[in-house]
Amino acid sequence: MQKHREITLQRLAAFRLEMINQLYPLRQPLDLLHYAAPGRIPFHEAQQAQYDPITLGVKLAPLWSTHWFKLVFSIPADWHEQEVHLLWDSSSEATVWSDGQPLQGLTGSDNGWQEAPIRVAFPLKEKFFSNQPAPLYLEAALNGLFGVPTDNPRQRERIGWLRQAELAVFDRGVWDLLWDFTIIADLAKELPPDSPRAGQALFTANAMVNAIRWTERESLQTARALAADFLAQTNGKAQHQLAVIGHAHIDTAWLWPIAETKRKCVRSFSAAVDLMERYPHYQFVCSQAQQLAWMKAEYPGLYARILEKVKSGQFIPAGATWVEPDTNVPSGESLVRQFLYGQRFFKEEFGEISKVFWEPDVFGYSAALPQIMRAAGVEYFLTQKLSWNEFNKPERHTFYWEGLDGSQVLAHFPPVDTYNSLANVHDVLFNVCNYKDHDRSNHSYLLFGFGDGGGGPTDAMLEQLTRMENVDGLPLVTMRAPQDFFERLEHDLKDKTVWRGELYFENHRGTYTSQAYTKRLNRDSEYRLHDLEFLGVADWVFHQTPYPHQLLRELWQIVLTNQFHDILPGSSIHEVYAEANQRYQEVIRRVDEKVRAYTFTLFDEDEEYYTVVNTLGCARREIVALPSEHAAIQQDCQGASLVVVEMPPYSIMDVNFATAAEPRQVSIRQVENAYVLENELVQVWINASGQLTRFFEKNSQREVIVPDALGNQLVLYEDKPFAYEAWNVDVYYLEKPPRLGSDFTCQINESGPLRVTLRVEQNIGERSRIEQTIRLTAFSPRLDFDTRVVWQEEQQFLRVLFPLQIRSEVATYEVQFGCVQRPTHFNTPYDLARFEVPAQRWADLSEPDFGVALLNDSKYGYACHGNVLSLSLLRAPNNPDPLADRGMHFFRYALYPHALSPQLSAVWAEAAAFNHPIQAFPDDSCLFSGSLFRVDAPNIVLDTVKMAEDDRGIILRLYEASGCHTQATVKTGFPISTVWQCDLLERKTGELQASPKGFCYDFSPFEILNVQITKN
Ligand SMILES: [Zn+2]
Repeated sequence: MQKHREITLQRLAAFRLEMINQLYPLRQPLDLLHYAAPGRIPFHEAQQAQYDPITLGVKLAPLWSTHWFKLVFSIPADWHEQEVHLLWDSSSEATVWSDGQPLQGLTGSDNGWQEAPIRVAFPLKEKFFSNQPAPLYLEAALNGLFGVPTDNPRQRERIGWLRQAELAVFDRGVWDLLWDFTIIADLAKELPPDSPRAGQALFTANAMVNAIRWTERESLQTARALAADFLAQTNGKAQHQLAVIGHAHIDTAWLWPIAETKRKCVRSFSAAVDLMERYPHYQFVCSQAQQLAWMKAEYPGLYARILEKVKSGQFIPAGATWVEPDTNVPSGESLVRQFLYGQRFFKEEFGEISKVFWEPDVFGYSAALPQIMRAAGVEYFLTQKLSWNEFNKPERHTFYWEGLDGSQVLAHFPPVDTYNSLANVHDVLFNVCNYKDHDRSNHSYLLFGFGDGGGGPTDAMLEQLTRMENVDGLPLVTMRAPQDFFERLEHDLKDKTVWRGELYFENHRGTYTSQAYTKRLNRDSEYRLHDLEFLGVADWVFHQTPYPHQLLRELWQIVLTNQFHDILPGSSIHEVYAEANQRYQEVIRRVDEKVRAYTFTLFDEDEEYYTVVNTLGCARREIVALPSEHAAIQQDCQGASLVVVEMPPYSIMDVNFATAAEPRQVSIRQVENAYVLENELVQVWINASGQLTRFFEKNSQREVIVPDALGNQLVLYEDKPFAYEAWNVDVYYLEKPPRLGSDFTCQINESGPLRVTLRVEQNIGERSRIEQTIRLTAFSPRLDFDTRVVWQEEQQFLRVLFPLQIRSEVATYEVQFGCVQRPTHFNTPYDLARFEVPAQRWADLSEPDFGVALLNDSKYGYACHGNVLSLSLLRAPNNPDPLADRGMHFFRYALYPHALSPQLSAVWAEAAAFNHPIQAFPDDSCLFSGSLFRVDAPNIVLDTVKMAEDDRGIILRLYEASGCHTQATVKTGFPISTVWQCDLLERKTGELQASPKGFCYDFSPFEILNVQITKN
């Protein structure tokens, strides 16, 4: 070998290509019969279709269409002693079928990930060597891994070329040599050039090239012997231990609709099962119960093969949740249901729940999660997404993650910073050198395989990993299931470190706002399901009516699937939202139908009288609108009568019993160009543009808005992220001064005494219009803004700003089952990174004795810069959905001043009531009244009331919302006999002492309590 490393490395690369060309020495073209299918049809339909001859080299069209091919062939007799492969490349995704079963997925050239094909070989098993084997069918789907690119005409043009369809003899001798050589040549290239092993690798690989003559078969053995000597040099015992696992991250919908996801699952899972048959040590982890449920329902043959491989320990269901959900936007109860229905599926289908929450690709992780995980039987957490952080890369890869309440789970971020590793020397070495925790742990994890339809791991990856198991210069490499990996990691870990609180993702901050209508439907669905569950329990308590378990599971699972991490966050194509919105609307329609049925059984419908229902865990005083015959002191602008009702938590009452006298009044008057709205608690000045010029809170004698500043400023920012439009809001959006509205009109719509409203309209942006109804009642300091927007902008960001007369270093934001504080300044890069943050129903800026909350009914993006608290309302990204958010929107927000901090003034209750006004139903004989469930502490939220999944009792889910140790008493409106504490999977963990009408419990801060009570 001459002394020139670079030239030698180039020689090795060229030789590797030469070897690949020797893999198939004999080939035979196939006769092709073709059928252009009308859509994604099942196999039995495809089998009966009329097929016509077609030749290689044609371009199939259009994009997204499905083409079936029938291959009738027999393998030449003189090939019968050889391995024979079908080679297929339709520059698309494809599935090989035979006898009605999907056998293996294939991924051709120009697949979106790379120009070269990912998987074109289908090894033919013995049955295809008979004289007249059953025909093979190929189902080609004209899309790539990432759907069909909308912004890359060149790649669109390249999808669907029928490039390859042949039988070929496979030369295993060359194949084995190829992977020996690849490992050694890659080590020569990837190890530090001055390391001894790099030099030895360079010498060995070069010697292998010198040894080979393709015409002399024995030269292959000579070269392999050289390789064997090199690969036999093993590691010392202290070497880093790299566990590896096959995986295919399949987005449940994203740049393709769900119908295509199901086929991507078929292609990937069948490819995985096929590989398992050929590589008995190979293990593959599969998350997302929903995807397996689809296989069970629609591809039972494949599912049976999967179940066999689950039994053999090769196909490993894991993850614990229904899908891999977004964790910023779903409610606390939704996150609970992700685990409840995910774990139930794993338990029922595979005999055990998953101890690992598998969430590699989600846009930030709520501080509520560790407690939810622990209570759902999960001990370990895996992600890698924070490696995408824009400002601060994670400083650790192995640590204990501690949630709001103090629950901890062991977290691991695979240091290779991807869930799609190629399992080559480069990735294995990078995984080790990038690991931040060598000082306390000798273990890390690597996930390998092509996701999103690439079929997961390939033969090539398995060949490389097998050779890398114990070679000096590389870590020790072992295939391990997730639980096995985590148990070893935990056992070996020294000096554990703890990360407390949320794992904020410093990226993709637009996903709190994009696709606003879908987020609105999600919030509506969550509340409706909550109501239906309470009404179902009430009807069971009073009439022993069977609880609608099946309906609720079905509807919840629709909602949970829509909460997948590319659907609800807003990062999918248009078609995905058309479908998701339809599914949400179906949930809403079916819940409403069922609720109407309850109004018959519960309320005995009659239009003369009304029953009001409070489905929340807080007492409420609210205005309800009833048809005009009802005696009232004020009517609304539609002529309905406004009555004030007062209701205890979780109560159903005749409106006459609930009606409360309201001695206080609210007024509105015009003073020059301003309007003054005033009740006993506040005085609000609003200018003719609908902006607050003054908001005075009388009890505290405090100004809410900074003098001379304007509250309720609706502003439009240019919103041009440099990449990932639907995902990202970039920090520089703040730099360009925003635009304001114009052409304002303002008029008084309601003038008291119970409620006043001011209606303001304005044009904003190029083509958009905002109509706002600003509302104050006689008895609350809360000012509501009902907002309708006709939105026709492009790359604009609509936000509303409130400059508050409050100074604080932190603002408080509601998250699931509690709240978190985040800085109001940009002191450090960690603070700056949080210039836009997620929240649930409220955010708040407070001094110790006074504060202001900004509530919302369907928004999730907030910011608080200095004293300006603001809410993100609408975006208009062009990619991947060029129609995103254009159209009509309706949403509400409210400003709510309060004494003390948000924690001590139970802002949660105001936010819950704001989200979900008291419902009135026609009724003539309310059979009962009063509260079915109530708690005596304002910071203890009774969040969910449902029947146990096994129907043996009622589940109550409560949590401490403010961060205080609290003793609370829960009372029921009917006699109970036992109270069992249970986990989120409804497994009993201990009995609580019960009295006939309730029980006591000592809550720790942010603790979630689940109990199962039985009726006496
Ligand atoms: Zn994903």
